Amino acid sequence: MKLYNSLSHEKEEFVPHTPGKVSMYTCGPTVYNFAHIGNLRTYIMEDVLDRYLRYSGYEVKRVMNITDVGHLTGDSDEGEDKMLSGAKREHKSVMEIAKFYTDAFFSDCKRLNIRRPDVVEPATACIGQFIKVIKKLMETGYAYEAGGNVYFDTSKLEQYYVFHNFEEEELRDGVREGVEKDENKRNKADFVLWFTKSKFDNQELKWNSPWGVGYPGWHIECSCISMKNLGEYLDIHCGGIDNAFPHHTNEIAQSEAYLGHKWCNYWVHVLHLNTGSGKMSKSKGEFLTLSRLAEKGYDPIAYRFFCLQSHYRRNLVFTYENLDNAVQAYDKLIARLAQLDPRDGEVNKEAAESLRAKFTEAMDNDINTSLAVTALYDVLKADVNDATKLWLAEDFDRVLCLDLIKKAEEKRSADAAQADPELCRKIEALIEERAAAKRDKNYARADEIRNEISALGAVLEDTKDGTKYKIVK
Ligand code: AMP
Ligand code: ZN
Repeated sequence: MKLYNSLSHEKEEFVPHTPGKVSMYTCGPTVYNFAHIGNLRTYIMEDVLDRYLRYSGYEVKRVMNITDVGHLTGDSDEGEDKMLSGAKREHKSVMEIAKFYTDAFFSDCKRLNIRRPDVVEPATACIGQFIKVIKKLMETGYAYEAGGNVYFDTSKLEQYYVFHNFEEEELRDGVREGVEKDENKRNKADFVLWFTKSKFDNQELKWNSPWGVGYPGWHIECSCISMKNLGEYLDIHCGGIDNAFPHHTNEIAQSEAYLGHKWCNYWVHVLHLNTGSGKMSKSKGEFLTLSRLAEKGYDPIAYRFFCLQSHYRRNLVFTYENLDNAVQAYDKLIARLAQLDPRDGEVNKEAAESLRAKFTEAMDNDINTSLAVTALYDVLKADVNDATKLWLAEDFDRVLCLDLIKKAEEKRSADAAQADPELCRKIEALIEERAAAKRDKNYARADEIRNEISALGAVLEDTKDGTKYKIVK
């Protein structure tokens, strides 16, 4: 499998540190507001990578942080804590805000079939770990105290701009417009590891530290949460492209200074979801949430499909017209799958393997989801029986997670119901009769009714919301 590595700017063969096992770290959300659909693009694409690694037979351990302290409104060390400004806006405590938006984030993830990482850790739960790492950086001369804060000294490194982002390198000589100059820093690129009350007096969450009461910088949390859960060697670190600098650059600086060796081998960055006027961003206030899309009648999984249709290393432009096109294509795909008869013969394993090879070839080529979707269309066009097609769709969907089989079954059932309302009434009456038989503990009769329903071509499913049925022929 080849992955594009931002460190080398090349597609590289993926070789994990320990054969068969993958350690993977994902920068999690800053929970001061809802995630926007741009953030969710990044999480969808990272989910696909995670799932494809598992599909390929790797044992994956994936860790994600929740930024509930320390991320400032400026993208380096300036401004107010985003969490604090969120809390002020909503007249709530920082922890209330964090809980509310963390839950909202995972609820969005669930609706998008994004698997919850194996470990999810909020920054506020790891303060001791941050202090331990900063202490060592102080002892080894990589960090210094100035004006009440602790800074990382970037001049101590042989190479700081690891992603070769020369545009950002110009920052060494000039401070960007709108960014306040911090007189405490020895070098312009230095960044804060620990703030003390000397800088932000009104910070709600503060902890004791050897450098005074304060709170951690943003970057230190990801290094520490990763090292704590995944050890000294990390295989894959991912995030949106805006995180490459300064966030990931600083993570590498402090982690490698702390460890004394290379830390992470592969850096995977997802490009942005843009609107007509540029990057979708929370701070610009111009952002769209998944709930807003759902209110407008869009199925969250259709948004997942929209994202998978393009490669993660290309910017994706969001317009309703583009999304509508994706919805149409998704509905058509489901309709075609619904027309397939699951009982049409045996799965032809040999034909399936050769069709599957197209899918794995696409995914092995730097997670090319757009070609993987094409491989799915190729299956539908292929000269194989329906059972083989459905088997392949189900197999690919372990990675794509587009609910292909479930939605196709629902559509098949709805189509059948529309075509034969009399049959539906019959089945529904039998379901009622079965429920009554069960209430009377007449299980023999209940089983008999299940068989009668089956003979009518439907299968029953007992759910917490009552008995549902699917028409299968
Ligand atoms: P945040 O909650 O701001 O820390 O961002 C969460 C994730 O979303 C990070 O990995 C960001 O790099 C990513 N991200 C932010 N804006 C966008 C965007 N417009 N498109 C795609 N990913 C984004
Ligand atoms: Zn991070």
